[in-house]
Amino acid sequence: IRRVSETNPAPYDLAIIGGGPGGYVTALRAAAAGQRVALIEQHEPGGVCLHTGCIPTKTMAAGVGLLRRAQAARLAGLTLDPEADHLSEINQRRSQVVTGLAKGVQTLLKKSTVELINARGRLTADGIELTDAAGAVTTLPRPPAIVLATGSRPIELPSAPHDGTRIINSDDILRLEDTPQHFLILGGGYIGCEFASIFSQLGSQVTLVEMEDWLLPGMDPDLADLLQRQFKRQRIGLHLGRRMESAATGDGVTLTLDNGDTLTGDRLLVAVGRVPNTENLGLEEVGVELAGRAIRVNERMETTVPGIFAIGDVTGQMQLAHVATAQGKVVVENLLNPAAGAAMDYTQVPAAVFTHPEIATIGLTPEQAEAAGIPVQIGRFPFAAIGKALAEGERDGFVKLIAHAETGKLLGGHIIGGHAAEMIGQITLAVRLGATAQQLAETIFAHPTLSEAVLEAAEDTFGQATHAISR
Ligand code: FAD
Repeated sequence: IRRVSETNPAPYDLAIIGGGPGGYVTALRAAAAGQRVALIEQHEPGGVCLHTGCIPTKTMAAGVGLLRRAQAARLAGLTLDPEADHLSEINQRRSQVVTGLAKGVQTLLKKSTVELINARGRLTADGIELTDAAGAVTTLPRPPAIVLATGSRPIELPSAPHDGTRIINSDDILRLEDTPQHFLILGGGYIGCEFASIFSQLGSQVTLVEMEDWLLPGMDPDLADLLQRQFKRQRIGLHLGRRMESAATGDGVTLTLDNGDTLTGDRLLVAVGRVPNTENLGLEEVGVELAGRAIRVNERMETTVPGIFAIGDVTGQMQLAHVATAQGKVVVENLLNPAAGAAMDYTQVPAAVFTHPEIATIGLTPEQAEAAGIPVQIGRFPFAAIGKALAEGERDGFVKLIAHAETGKLLGGHIIGGHAAEMIGQITLAVRLGATAQQLAETIFAHPTLSEAVLEAAEDTFGQATHAISR
């Protein structure tokens, strides 16, 4: 890692505080466009996404997916043993994948002109105060542009005080060496659901508590409905519409719910959301305003102080890695060509949940369209009628498309089933290009593929799905 000389700091056009997927991608793109960039990161570049978020969890999800298939193989008469505790092997693989990718990010940064500064950054009236791991403090003179990309951390609840062993968060879970026998999970958002799915497949008896009446609040309720049925089939206990009152630790953890019920387990994962990292950043000193707990930004990713931008989880928008990256690209566009007025559009952002079955979604749900007064046609097609899905043993699930009732323009897509996260890309592209359901239906899809369900769902928006039984 290259460091800036303490006595003669290099002049920069842009300094970025935080080297997650928002910060490091912004740094690479700005540097490739000829900007002199300093990337200030207190740990290793890659952020939550690479070290404790997307990549480690998806490596675990892929590992337990193999176990599931091994189980299916055993049922088909092939001898494989999926019974042992595989957590340590999955952890080993996870750490190999993370280490490999982390090296890749370091190499990308080294091969670019980005100056990586290994320090904690804080805004001051003169520039950016840098504190390195040994506590030495220097100041980087203020460059014309600054990007705040400091990310977020798990929310802690006073009623379930975090201790890192019995009551844990999504960072601690990556340090577990044994699969808990009875695992309690608080929060039915995507992080809670993904870990419920992973640990259930590893052999834990999982119980999940969510205060809303369904899992994945905010997503299409049909997705949650099927996920809940599948979770129940997988013997995941669900307490929906229930609030946790308190959590007490001893030999294990005991949760008391708002109806007086108690639940006991070995460990409790608290996964009730993430809070932006805005503390000790010098925001008040330079006048950067907050909106709630996040940094206030406009659609150009500008904060309330000219020349200071913010991106990623710290802005409290959709807290997803690809949103952080897209916001960073908006910043670079605005720096290079301020007149063009690049702006972030959140209506075209896909999101995926790596449970079994997998879920992916983009754009409006029918409920959101109705609330906005938009008339829609809904097309839906089940994987149970798709040959490739049957061949892969992935018959549960469906594709649902939302099209404008008058123009046919695609406004949303929702998938639950095998490879949903891969398939959402084609619907995202169609939504982005303003395609209609008719145009999607006129597109030739390869056979046999799971994507044929997208084609049939497009046809179904005007009642013409070729393989729908009702026709
Ligand atoms: P972060 O990744 O949080 O990075 C911020 C960086 O800033 C960190 O490296 C931190 O060390 C550094 N930093 C903070 N303060 C300072 C400072 N003062 N000085 C210097 N450095 C500082 N998203 C998806 O899109 N798909 C997924 O499948 C997915 N799965 C997830 C699973 C889990 C368990 C979790 C927790 C998150 C997941 N996410 C997923 C969310 C994703 O990880 C975040 O949205 C993404 O990492 C946000 O990127 P960021 O650049 O804003 O910040």
